[in-house]
Amino acid sequence: MAASMTNLHRSAQLYERARAVIPGGIPGIRAPENFVPGAYPILLAGGRGGHVTDVDGNDYVDLLLGYGPVILGHAEGRVDAAARERAAGGFCLDLPEPIMIELAERLVSMVPSAEQVLLLKTGSDATTAAIRIARTYTGRSIVLRCGYHGWHDWCLEGDPGVPSGTTDTVIPFPYNDLDRLAHLLKNHAGDVAAIMLTPVGHDFDRQIEPPGPGFLEGVRKLADEHAVVLAFDEVRTGFRVHPGGAQGLYGVTPDLTALGKAMSNGYPVTALVGRREVMESAQNTFISSTYFPNGMEMAAALKTLELIVEEDVLSTIGAIGASLREGLGEIVTRHGLPVSLSPFDEMPFVYFKPALESRQIERRDAFYGALAQDGVFAHPRHHGFLCWRHGAEDLARVLEAVDAAAAGL
Ligand code: PMP
Repeated sequence: MAASMTNLHRSAQLYERARAVIPGGIPGIRAPENFVPGAYPILLAGGRGGHVTDVDGNDYVDLLLGYGPVILGHAEGRVDAAARERAAGGFCLDLPEPIMIELAERLVSMVPSAEQVLLLKTGSDATTAAIRIARTYTGRSIVLRCGYHGWHDWCLEGDPGVPSGTTDTVIPFPYNDLDRLAHLLKNHAGDVAAIMLTPVGHDFDRQIEPPGPGFLEGVRKLADEHAVVLAFDEVRTGFRVHPGGAQGLYGVTPDLTALGKAMSNGYPVTALVGRREVMESAQNTFISSTYFPNGMEMAAALKTLELIVEEDVLSTIGAIGASLREGLGEIVTRHGLPVSLSPFDEMPFVYFKPALESRQIERRDAFYGALAQDGVFAHPRHHGFLCWRHGAEDLARVLEAVDAAAAGL
């Protein structure tokens, strides 16, 4: 428990209230124990640009950005105005609105693998739809997967509440391990419906890992040889590492792609896109939900994607990220911090490895706790993000806080 200098009283009070009516008070990954209890706020009140404010009125440079969706900045006027305009016209209708087609066309124009599009609500929806379509298309059941794909049964393993039968046909493989993948395909020849992987390795509590030379090309080749559907989970990398996603950056095109997060600056709309022939199989299975066709969030997505392209948002983010990495590198070296830095400028991460060693956990928590106390909101075990509205002042504040936190260790 870090000693709290920042006033977090209201956070603590509200947490008590929450615990009475919500399991654990704060469910899921946002639970206080996933940060540094006592040093971080527990509830936030709002956000603007690259900052968030907690319920006690403390301001933070936000380096987590809602776990990735906020690519432009919080409360981005033009996006919110587009959503408000759709909302004012009624947006939960009996049939889809034309904006669904407009958004699908926009995605087809941006993402290399996109010939057809299904619009959904969460990243988990998009990855699950990919698996259902791949199984329908191939008539096979086994899925080889790598990375986090959401909270649905098929991609969890051993979690209470998930019967083993659900995941018996889903086999994980390690990132950047082509031999293992080839071995699994051989062992299950004729039974594999899909390979799903995050094209960049970005597991929780690990440093981000780029694809090794020939890895993605090798995966594509193996998928072709075994007539297996190749699905990229670009929920996190889509519209962030390149306007066309990691597939645009690395020039390897999958059959299906799950997209979400940065696509809509925080509004709940995601997409499964892909090759026409495979996507058409969606018609032979069941993928439907009350809220899938809602126009309000589609209007937000359309405006977000328009701004990403027209304002060259990713170049701005890349430039800030490069300066940040340079500054972090200098501080880390000067203080001899036992950490690694993310190889992706747009997804910064000061990673304390190996995180299972208790001394490192202490150091990590002291470091991140100090950052939070100094007005920088970053996750101790999840890489960060940058947004278009982060500026030079934010960068200076982050580096000053990092320097102080490093000195404190
Ligand atoms: N895939 C990846 C790569 C993700 O990062 C996430 C969310 N962290 C998901 C899928 C699931 O998305 P959601 O939380 O929107 O269901």
